[in-house]
Amino acid sequence: MIYLDYQATTPLAPEAREAMLPWLSGPEAMGFANPHSPHRPGRAAAAAVEVAREQIAALLPAGGRVVFTGSATEALNLAIVGRKPSRLAVSTIEHAAVLDTAAASSARLDLLETDRDGLVAADSDIAGGTDLVAVMQVNNEIGTIQPVDAIAEKAHAAGALFLCDAVQGAGKLEPPRGADMVAVSAHKLYGPKGIGALWVRDGIDLTPLIHGGGQEQGLRSGTLSPALCAGFGAAAALAKARMDEDGAHIQALWAKARQLLPDWELNGSADRRWHGNLNLRREGLDVARLMSDLRNVAFSAGSACASGSGRPSHVLRAIGLSDRQAKSSIRIGFGRYTEMGGIEDACACINAAAAAQGV
Ligand code: PLP
Repeated sequence: MIYLDYQATTPLAPEAREAMLPWLSGPEAMGFANPHSPHRPGRAAAAAVEVAREQIAALLPAGGRVVFTGSATEALNLAIVGRKPSRLAVSTIEHAAVLDTAAASSARLDLLETDRDGLVAADSDIAGGTDLVAVMQVNNEIGTIQPVDAIAEKAHAAGALFLCDAVQGAGKLEPPRGADMVAVSAHKLYGPKGIGALWVRDGIDLTPLIHGGGQEQGLRSGTLSPALCAGFGAAAALAKARMDEDGAHIQALWAKARQLLPDWELNGSADRRWHGNLNLRREGLDVARLMSDLRNVAFSAGSACASGSGRPSHVLRAIGLSDRQAKSSIRIGFGRYTEMGGIEDACACINAAAAAQGV
């Protein structure tokens, strides 16, 4: 099986797994202790959580705090609902974790349009009275890198805070330094599933969503998992140390895949893009058939987030593709552990399966 779905999730780095193991121990080693307990094993677990917090903070802007959550989805809910905005502006290509949370809030909602390249304008108009603007760093479907620092400036000039969903960018790109809140997820940067975080700039108040024991400075009650925190922290530290090396590897894979898939149209900008994301379309392609013919290649329909719903991707529609074009798109995602030979084999299989459809 060739795994090419790195935007959906990444493999757990062996180093992250290793960092988790002491906190998954049985009764003999005390690694199971509650990190909120005052006794010695509890304090040891709490110390591991704080090390992880620092490792994650090192991937994020300076001058804020990291609040652990169960996922980036929860972090984004905390940021949006916890600010109780009365007027909110979000881009049309945000993840459902932002779009649906914004729609479910009682805030008046403005949508920031995207051009055909999949980019939100750096000088997007932010209406007066807007409290919060949310634009993602890297789009999960088409990989486009948004001008988030410029949009943060516009938001601030309009008197709004800026929230950045950095789930697909954290550990790969420099942090969105102009943001006031940043959401990240461990499982998109080679850490474990089931943990995310919200970075909050100092001085910004939030109302908690989850009430109880008052953990995470009162912002997110519930016992933390030292194993998940340690895995997230180790993955973050590794991503920071390997950022250049991982980036160079991805560039080489991208160049090879582009060369081997010449008959496919690229969705989204070729340049202002995370190159581990190749979202491609081919006129008349039956994506469901392609996926069932390619059982040994794990990739995604271009409409990953809407998959199962039968609806074309809101992102591909937002960049001006027709329903038909959106439904004939696929997303190939690669990363640290993808081998050149794997890309070569997968491209050959994908081309052959498309040719068998006569498209
Ligand atoms: N934002 C983006 C851009 C994503 O790609 C995802 C995951 O697909 C999320 C948010 C949600 O992350 P999590 O799986 O941690 O809830």
